[in-house]
Amino acid sequence: MVSKVEKKSESASSDSKTLDGEDGDSLDEQPLDIGEHYLVRRGDDTWHPAEIIQARFNEQENQYDYYVHYEGYNRRLDEWIPRDRIMLSRFNMSDHQWKNDQRTGDLLSDQSDRKITRNQKRRHDEINHIQKTYAEMDPTTAALEKEHEAITKVKYIDRIQIGRYEIDTWYFSPYPDEYGKQPKLWICEYCLKYMRLEKTYRYHMQSECTARQPPGKEIYRKGTLSIWETDGSHHKVYCQSLCLLAKLFLDHKTLYFDVEPFLFYVLCDIDKHGSHLVGYFSKEKESPDGNNVACILTLPPYQRQGYGKLLIAFSYELSKHEGVVGSPEKPLSDLGKLSYRSYWSWVLLEILRDFRGTLSIKDLSEMTSIAQTDIISTLQSMNMVKYWKGQHVICVTPKLVEEHIKSSHFKRPRLTVDSTSLQWCPPRRTNNVRYGKK
Ligand SMILES: [Zn+2]
Repeated sequence: MVSKVEKKSESASSDSKTLDGEDGDSLDEQPLDIGEHYLVRRGDDTWHPAEIIQARFNEQENQYDYYVHYEGYNRRLDEWIPRDRIMLSRFNMSDHQWKNDQRTGDLLSDQSDRKITRNQKRRHDEINHIQKTYAEMDPTTAALEKEHEAITKVKYIDRIQIGRYEIDTWYFSPYPDEYGKQPKLWICEYCLKYMRLEKTYRYHMQSECTARQPPGKEIYRKGTLSIWETDGSHHKVYCQSLCLLAKLFLDHKTLYFDVEPFLFYVLCDIDKHGSHLVGYFSKEKESPDGNNVACILTLPPYQRQGYGKLLIAFSYELSKHEGVVGSPEKPLSDLGKLSYRSYWSWVLLEILRDFRGTLSIKDLSEMTSIAQTDIISTLQSMNMVKYWKGQHVICVTPKLVEEHIKSSHFKRPRLTVDSTSLQWCPPRRTNNVRYGKK
């Protein structure tokens, strides 16, 4: 049993390629060599040469699983598979003319989308990212992107358990090594502590954890919905855990550990057991760019139910209380862009429908705390603005407003912010130089 423990810890702590077999364990318990090729049974029961990219010990099955890349296929089809889908002996790539025999029209080029795993590709299809090539980027960005590509090549954490939800993850997240290479992480939905083992999690939930809500201050309560303000410098570990969790569902995001310059607004749904995490947004304490949201996420089980737009509306509610105009940090994901565009359209159409008289873009901005550039782009998308003598001028008729309100683009939010339920005083601004995230 000692050798088993060693194997587990070694496979979990580093990407070791081979483990010595001197402990007398059967040979088939040794991991296959990384970089070697084998014939692998695909999901459609066909056999195909594949490269072993990574191995990890599956504690439940007591055997190794392998992350494989099918030769000639797009990287998005790379996947974790058990040993029994891999032929016993190696496959010599140079001996075979498999490429000529096997290649069919549906094989995708190996050169494109190299970094995209299956789930990522699913997301990419959904939100249609436009990716620059390395040549189009400045050298620093290109280096960072290459690093991003290297570390996201293998997405180890397939699933998380958080509260009553088991959720498939979408992207790589830089959890510390022994956690970051687990197939499944167990996460306390209240304090966000992450754990490798179910029994640790059960013990934590039953005996160890006293939290039933986020740390910080509850600043909003309406029905079962509650929003907490959590300061990154007062609750560093919680906020870091929140960022790591969020990264599992966000492709590009750079903030994980430097959380002090941020406030986190955490949305929960309350029942008799506690306050269940729904989503959050982070916000710089001091934003020279006038950003009122840095990062925003609704957890997958709560998506498409109006929570994302509630968070957006809430971010503007805070800006209104502060008497400032705000805008989300760019670039927005295309999914984020859709939510914001939909929110902005709704807010502006509601005003334009009821307002009699003349309104400038500046007026609209002051009424809504939405930045003028965001108002202009939204009105442009609805054909409601003209450029006249160096200025953008609102150009609407009641008929045009009604048409947009009746169109499928106009969506009344399912959840709205009740400003009388907000208990919040804007934090005092300082002029200190900020450190950390630019
Ligand atoms: Zn906990």
